Amino acid sequence: MKLQFWGAARTVTGSMHSLNVNGSHVLLDCGLFQGKRTEAFERNRNFPFEPASVDTVVLSHAHIDHSGNLPSLARHGFEGEIHATSATRDLCKIMLQDSAHIQSLDAAHLNKKNARRNRPLVEPLYTVDDALHAIEHFDGEKYLTPFPVADGVTVTFHDAGHILGSALTVLDLLENGTTVRLGFTGDLGRPNLPILKDPEFMGDVDYLILESTYGGRFHKPMSEVNATLTRVIQSAVNENGKIIVPAFSVGRTQDLVYALHNLFETTSVPQIPIYVDSPLSVDATEIFRLHHECYDRETLDLINKDDDPFGFHRLHYVRSVEESKSLNKNKEPCMIIAASGMCEGGRILHHLTNSIEDPRNTILVVGYMAENTLGKKIVMREPEVRIMGNEYRLKADVIVMNSFSAHADQAETLSYVSQFDRKRLKRVFLVHGDLDQQQKLSAALEGAGFSSVMIPERGQEFDLP
Ligand SMILES: [Zn+2]
Repeated sequence: MKLQFWGAARTVTGSMHSLNVNGSHVLLDCGLFQGKRTEAFERNRNFPFEPASVDTVVLSHAHIDHSGNLPSLARHGFEGEIHATSATRDLCKIMLQDSAHIQSLDAAHLNKKNARRNRPLVEPLYTVDDALHAIEHFDGEKYLTPFPVADGVTVTFHDAGHILGSALTVLDLLENGTTVRLGFTGDLGRPNLPILKDPEFMGDVDYLILESTYGGRFHKPMSEVNATLTRVIQSAVNENGKIIVPAFSVGRTQDLVYALHNLFETTSVPQIPIYVDSPLSVDATEIFRLHHECYDRETLDLINKDDDPFGFHRLHYVRSVEESKSLNKNKEPCMIIAASGMCEGGRILHHLTNSIEDPRNTILVVGYMAENTLGKKIVMREPEVRIMGNEYRLKADVIVMNSFSAHADQAETLSYVSQFDRKRLKRVFLVHGDLDQQQKLSAALEGAGFSSVMIPERGQEFDLP
């Protein structure tokens, strides 16, 4: 058995790992790599293996940095099954099509420039047809119910408490009479977050692939969310400004809307309009309604009492490009939530170009921004940023709200990992983190008695056992 790390190795995007057991090639996640444009383009288009050689994919959750390159895989010859929880499958139906729209817009934008400069035109990374093709390969699995995915490979999903449908994956491997249990966190959620269940302990394993996004940090408590939101909204109302929120289309948006709904219901904060600007504009309510299996007790009680527990009726969905553009002329204070999360494409870009130079506006960051993304430059408050080929002065206020994070911080990760039997757990592989965060988490794990922690490089391969 061999395990090879292809993505999210010393970085936070493009989650993808290859597992070879009994000659079968099982891919764990197939995420979109985000970063510098040319590098991202190359990396996402050219797989380090033959896509047709992949027998099956096991997908941890619907976030694009974990699922977003599945349409490329399908476009280049993959014909196997994609195993995911049923909530992940349903979310991917929206998110992969949404991502394909973004890819097409991106290519169209590049081609306008290429045509002017007499350069060859590029094709989008993938199209809506490729996304639909990938979606046909999905099945929908239940939590806590083992299922075979290849000869000698049985998978069990546990709730990761990260986004709707997110799974911690346990792989029971059997090759030539040797058994190995491998755990893969995908993204590890946090205890006591609203809506979702707490991350479940996956049981003891021999090897663990552990995410490390916030491996060196400690989140502020959830109680700060209300104070920060109140401040941001009050300032938008006082100054007649807009609040621009770069968001993953599904996931963080619901947490934010849930928090706003609570705030509007229980305090006197002015109820400003909230626009969700996404090309598909699918009302996520339906998917949230369908998947009661993912909720904590408190949310289930709320669903029984309130027919709109998440406050989705407050959202205005923006479907057409015209509507989207007309939002920029809107003179009222409002909040605009638009894809994509790291500001690397999508409708968020034209909202930023229209708002970034006005100090009355606020850019509210609620997700992780990877190195070299526009989102990261905004978080670092670079005085000038380049958006779609033009320079803009960053004059808007930038507020970073990490307490919304759906990723465990160092203390939460340590508390999760401390449940494992240290004698049985032979090795922990840290993935999905920038190197400084990984080194801090590695030191903390070693301090807690986990002696063999590795930070694999891209392409590095390990024999199991
Ligand atoms: Zn995630």
